[in-house]
Amino acid sequence: MPKRADIVVVGAGAAGLFAGLWAARRSRELARPRRILILDGARTLGAKILVAGGGRCNVTHCAVSERDFNGSTPGAIRSVLRRFTVEDTTRFFAQRTVQLKREPTGKLFPTTDRARDVLDAILDATREAGAVIRNPCRVEQVARADTGFLVHAVENHKPAEFLAKRLILATGGKALPKSGSDGQGYDFARALDHSVSRTFPALVPLILEKDHPLRALSGLSFEAALEVRAASSKRLAPTRGSVLCTHFGLSGPAILDISRHLTAARHQDPGAHLVLSSLPDLTRDQLDHTLRNLGPTPIARVLKEDLLPERLASTLLDLAHIPHHTTGATLTKDQRRALLNTLLELTVPVTSDRGYTHAEVTAGGVPLKELTLRTMESRCTPALHLCGEICDADGRIGGFNFQWAWASGYIAGTAAAEAIAEHAIASPRGPNTANPARSTKNPP
Ligand SMILES: Cc1cc2nc3c(=O)[nH]c(=O)nc-3n(C[C@H](O)[C@H](O)[C@H](O)COP(=O)(O)OP(=O)(O)OC[C@H]3O[C@@H](n4cnc5c(N)ncnc54)[C@H](O)[C@@H]3O)c2cc1C
Repeated sequence: MPKRADIVVVGAGAAGLFAGLWAARRSRELARPRRILILDGARTLGAKILVAGGGRCNVTHCAVSERDFNGSTPGAIRSVLRRFTVEDTTRFFAQRTVQLKREPTGKLFPTTDRARDVLDAILDATREAGAVIRNPCRVEQVARADTGFLVHAVENHKPAEFLAKRLILATGGKALPKSGSDGQGYDFARALDHSVSRTFPALVPLILEKDHPLRALSGLSFEAALEVRAASSKRLAPTRGSVLCTHFGLSGPAILDISRHLTAARHQDPGAHLVLSSLPDLTRDQLDHTLRNLGPTPIARVLKEDLLPERLASTLLDLAHIPHHTTGATLTKDQRRALLNTLLELTVPVTSDRGYTHAEVTAGGVPLKELTLRTMESRCTPALHLCGEICDADGRIGGFNFQWAWASGYIAGTAAAEAIAEHAIASPRGPNTANPARSTKNPP
């Protein structure tokens, strides 16, 4: 016999835990405690919360808006984000005695710098609210049933079945597959009549051609402006920030941020490429003027002493084929042009990215247009909700992806609880009965 539950959440990551937690809290507010199960295949819960932000967990960002995301339309993303804001996140954690501090970049971390405190706060709040977490409990299949959904799982190596009135899919994407997020949730979404837009790794380091000189600078980081350009040289996506050279290619916040734009552009246009300026504060005219007026000064000295890290300056001079003893006076017009191009518009030959194993998030997923955003309920399958990274919304680096998980999880959980309460009250009197359970209360 399947175990019965009012709500089954598949996935106990950031979004699933929040969904289960808020479903339980809302049920209690409605004075109708419900049986809420959160199932997760992983033996260790919250792996991504624990590794996030280098073990410090970048919980959110001081200013989050739809402009920080890609995927579904900005309007759809905005309508989810505004239902559970950064202030709501900060208040939630403060109530669980996890104070957040803001760093100069705007990222918010726990004052203790311990991701474990963030995870423990959520797990304690979830259990206190009355939701039950079962793991390792790997869901293998979900199907519609007469009274909801039948969920087939393997729990501690034994088959287990659950019958749920409402189902919340919070299985994440494919990033960091060893955490348990391997993309199986997309199959569940498809089986329940959803489409899944093309998925690919985002916030992922990039691999450069073998033997590219930048790979020899492993460990060096510098400020740069980056741009994805079409084969036609049309400018597609700009960003600016820190770039880190590694033994395989490039990483660092700016590279992670631009990686999804390069991949997306290449899906449309295989000639799309990445262009890097290592002097992001200088225009071409300004640098041209500087080079023209160097006189007897060696160019290498100016680059190394005033403008760039020494090793980077040497490498860029080599890439521009400029002998290091060249002075402003001996620099030819062609050399000047080559140097300007190398310093300000260097095409970096990206062969691929490091894949889901090294990606922080998955681009693509279930389009938000297939959901009613007020409830995160499916428009394809009634009583099904989706939240978190399984949806087609991916944020830039800085805490935005967790804020998406908190907000969409909150909406899915509270809406599922309200719908169950509504059904319990409405059904004896007929579907049009005015419903006292529907709440307009603000979170949290
Ligand atoms: C290394 C790394 C660092 C990151 N750092 C940050 C950061 O500092 N700030 C930030 O905002 N974002 C960060 N992110 C991104 C962020 O962690 C994710 O966007 C977020 O965790 C997504 O939450 P989710 O609950 O939707 O999915 P997930 O966290 O992926 O959780 C999904 C859960 O579902 C479970 N699951 C999947 N399939 C099944 C199944 N069939 N049966 C049962 N369970 C299943 C998985 O085991 C997993 O626990 C980072 C990601 C990585 C990989």
